[in-house]
Amino acid sequence: MDNLKFLLGKLKEAEEYEHASKIIEFDMETKTPAKGLKAQGELQSLLANKAYEITHSKEFVDCVVALHKELDSLETEAKVLVSKLYKDIERNKNISPELNLEFSNIENEAFANWVEAKKDADFTKFAPSLAKIKDMEFKKIALNESAVDVAYDNLLDIYEPGMTSAKLDELFGECKESLIPLLEKIKAAKKPIRTDFTTRKVKDYQQEEFMKFLLETLGFDFNRGTYALSEHPFTELVGRNDERVTTHFYEDNLFSSMYSVIHECGHALFDLSTPDKDWDYYLFDYKSMGQHESVSRFYENIIGRSENFIAAIYDRMQDIFPEALKGVSKTEIFDYVNQVQPSLVRTEADEFTYTFHIIIRYEIEKEIMEGKLDIADVPKAWAKKYKSYLGVTPTNDTLGCLQDVHWTSGFGYFPTYALGNFYNSMYYNKMKEEIDVADAIRTGHMDTINKWMFENVWKDADKLDSSDWIKQITARELTSKDFLEYIENKYGMLYGL
Ligand SMILES: [Zn+2]
Repeated sequence: MDNLKFLLGKLKEAEEYEHASKIIEFDMETKTPAKGLKAQGELQSLLANKAYEITHSKEFVDCVVALHKELDSLETEAKVLVSKLYKDIERNKNISPELNLEFSNIENEAFANWVEAKKDADFTKFAPSLAKIKDMEFKKIALNESAVDVAYDNLLDIYEPGMTSAKLDELFGECKESLIPLLEKIKAAKKPIRTDFTTRKVKDYQQEEFMKFLLETLGFDFNRGTYALSEHPFTELVGRNDERVTTHFYEDNLFSSMYSVIHECGHALFDLSTPDKDWDYYLFDYKSMGQHESVSRFYENIIGRSENFIAAIYDRMQDIFPEALKGVSKTEIFDYVNQVQPSLVRTEADEFTYTFHIIIRYEIEKEIMEGKLDIADVPKAWAKKYKSYLGVTPTNDTLGCLQDVHWTSGFGYFPTYALGNFYNSMYYNKMKEEIDVADAIRTGHMDTINKWMFENVWKDADKLDSSDWIKQITARELTSKDFLEYIENKYGMLYGL
């Protein structure tokens, strides 16, 4: 047990540095004046590096390897911790500090080039970096002794352990088969949707009041969490009992902040439900991206864009925004927040068309990794797919393949955004068998839903790979069926199909 004690002591030390580094990071995103950013950034990387050094030292690695040999004698939390650390060590053990530095230089250069390229809407300025990123991914795979044969699967495994491209091909194939014809029907329905009120001016103090109301309604614990404003909304688990969510207020778009608040609140509720014992064993950060996005999207879309939720908050919305929502009915809000409108930019996409943005990016990443698509041809492939799936064509690279920052650090992250929708529609169906979800939303009893989420979805998320996790919740394997049924029912009803 001495090894375990040593390991936990080192993780405590590393967590303290990380905790401090996250406070600085949060400060940089929300309060630091522009000219103070450089010094703050240096301090932040100094602290983050300290944490990195501790968990990459020889004594730390030796300790994990030793503990891994006696895995069966450890209790659940310790076993999970050692397995996760060991897997990470195995994956990276042949990457020397020099090579690690080389990789981070490639990423930094890629980021700088991407910023330039995006500003000038010119993919050719980013293409050489993207080629280097691709080579870097292959180098990492070659150095990983436990790598699997399908190159792309090794990248998926980092963000969604156990996920394969064969499974994604199946899931996304089903989505395309069902959603492409449905989108045609929705377009053909030509349903008139009122939008004039959505750009009416609102004040920051009104939006702040609304934000607090939404967080309260959803069950956010203000004794263990706080909020701020930032350029892009995000959530940060700074430390134990300290969760931060941010949003951005636009004076002519109150719905933008409304849904970013609900989305980030979902992430926050999930983080804040980490069991104490998982904190004691430093497991709080092992939720996969797919698990996390499933929860944020559950609150944002399944709850937040439901007729019952709009009905439940309508009167309060009218109180807070009397001018902006003057003469606007519940149904008009409900129709507007669920409007299907194929667009070029993922972050502005509606619930229905969002999945296509992910499928397109996934297919392109996979074709690059399989050597079927030359980097130079990415914009062309991008435009072709947008045309065929969504019926829209980007007029430039900024609105096309340069829109997101993710490729500056590698591939494999994107599919997790769509997996979240598959997971949450599966557990939503299970939840409906056990509690009256509609009634809970209508009557403002979010605690009933949150309690179910804790017992079924949250409590073991750090300890299970997603495939075991979804099986434990629903007694079924991952499928796209529930998601597609949910979409077909909801949008069939909305568009009178
Ligand atoms: Zn999110």
